[in-house]
Amino acid sequence: MTADPVTSHAPGAEYAETASAAYRAALQVIESVEPRIAAATRKELADQRDSLKLIASENYASPAVLLTMGSWFSDKYAEGTIGHRFYAGCQNVDTVESLAAEHARELFGAPYAYVQPHSGIDANLVAFWAILATRVEAPELANLGAKHVNDLSEADWETLRNKLGNQRLLGMSLDAGGHLTHGFRPNISGKMFHQRSYGTDPHTGFLDYDAVAKAAREFKPLIIVAGYSAYPRRVNFATMREIADEVGATLMVDMAHFAGLVAGKVFTGDEDPVPHAHVTTTTTHKSLRGPRGGMVLAQPEYSDAVDKGCPMVLGGPLSHVMAAKAVALAEARQPAFQAYARRVADNAQALADGFLKRDANLVTGGTDNHIVLLDVTSFGLTGRQAESALLDAGIVTNRNSVPADPNGAWYTSGIRLGTPALTTRGFGPDDFDRVAELIVDVLSNTTPTQASSGPSKAKYTLADGTAERVHAASAELLEANPLYPGLTL
Ligand code: PLP
Repeated sequence: MTADPVTSHAPGAEYAETASAAYRAALQVIESVEPRIAAATRKELADQRDSLKLIASENYASPAVLLTMGSWFSDKYAEGTIGHRFYAGCQNVDTVESLAAEHARELFGAPYAYVQPHSGIDANLVAFWAILATRVEAPELANLGAKHVNDLSEADWETLRNKLGNQRLLGMSLDAGGHLTHGFRPNISGKMFHQRSYGTDPHTGFLDYDAVAKAAREFKPLIIVAGYSAYPRRVNFATMREIADEVGATLMVDMAHFAGLVAGKVFTGDEDPVPHAHVTTTTTHKSLRGPRGGMVLAQPEYSDAVDKGCPMVLGGPLSHVMAAKAVALAEARQPAFQAYARRVADNAQALADGFLKRDANLVTGGTDNHIVLLDVTSFGLTGRQAESALLDAGIVTNRNSVPADPNGAWYTSGIRLGTPALTTRGFGPDDFDRVAELIVDVLSNTTPTQASSGPSKAKYTLADGTAERVHAASAELLEANPLYPGLTL
């Protein structure tokens, strides 16, 4: 039996009985060595089943993906790349890595895929250094008539190192929705590059392409990074590429958040970054619903440098995770994944509409991806207070800055919400309208408390009965859309 692509978005229901037996056996084995880990593992599933998870970067991978990670591939060192390893005995890792890369190329229509990065941050580091190697190191070596950095004199090597460390990066600012790896100073990206940010239009909240072009012309970056963690709108990557081409920059797109919408063909044409970007990076565990990890897709002129991710940035790949990436990418190539991705976007729309009809404020006035950014200042709250009050009522979210946030990056004025996880459980648009109603119920019944030394940005009180009422209502939604249906421990 295969899952109905329209009504079921949770892969694994068709083999739930077998997966249950596998998990029971695994937990029994773990219990015999460290029972507290077995207990924490059982509790994690119970807690995930019982909470309304709206964290935009999270999802629920299928049992097939999760089970794949618990294998002896974890024990194997395989530094290098397919067919060129620094260790013997990597024939099975070669099979796994080749399959994962092949699925990635086919799914995204990419000429080249590198599936070794352990996370999104690693993928971005591989991409940055591959671009630096291609655009700075290789021409400098050619100028000096050298083939390899080890052939350079101390003086030439110092000159090259200075050049590598003296390049410019233009990325989306953190408070407009960019990610800290896009040049934020506390992150290594902000230390590696001279960095400048582009933001969004202060009136509409939408990306202002003219402002991006102006910043690119003035700053002349080597790299323009597009992509976001908290921007609730689509991006025109053809326009971003035109801007990059005009100033001679390499366009790098970090699609960590919305890779599932690209894989599921919700973002196509100018909204699909892969044909437009020179290099595209992603995580595999967010909307793509795979194991925790990263990936880099590249146009041919960058593929050789990306392929040297190890030893350039990485050590031994996590072969067990690459195997799970192959399984998740195979799932994402099924028609059911396209239905899932469409539903993720439809559900975000329903969530946004649910807020708007209840007079809540949304950054950009809505969404057309999987993210809704709720500005909670109209409830008289900081993001920190809203996040905590919602958690008291069993709703898991994360606070997030809004553009030009008066409360800064710690307390914030927003709550970021995403639909990928609950859509996997089977939630539909009516359920998300109800979720909006519950969130508005909690926030309308939350009052900020004054600290003795002035206003507190963290303290609040929730009106009596609110947490219980909302818990009961979400329990109904969760029961109607069970996580891992049929899976029993
Ligand atoms: N890039 C973007 C756009 C992200 O949103 C994130 C994670 O939140 C990352 C990169 C980093 O991913 P990871 O946590 O896997 O390192």
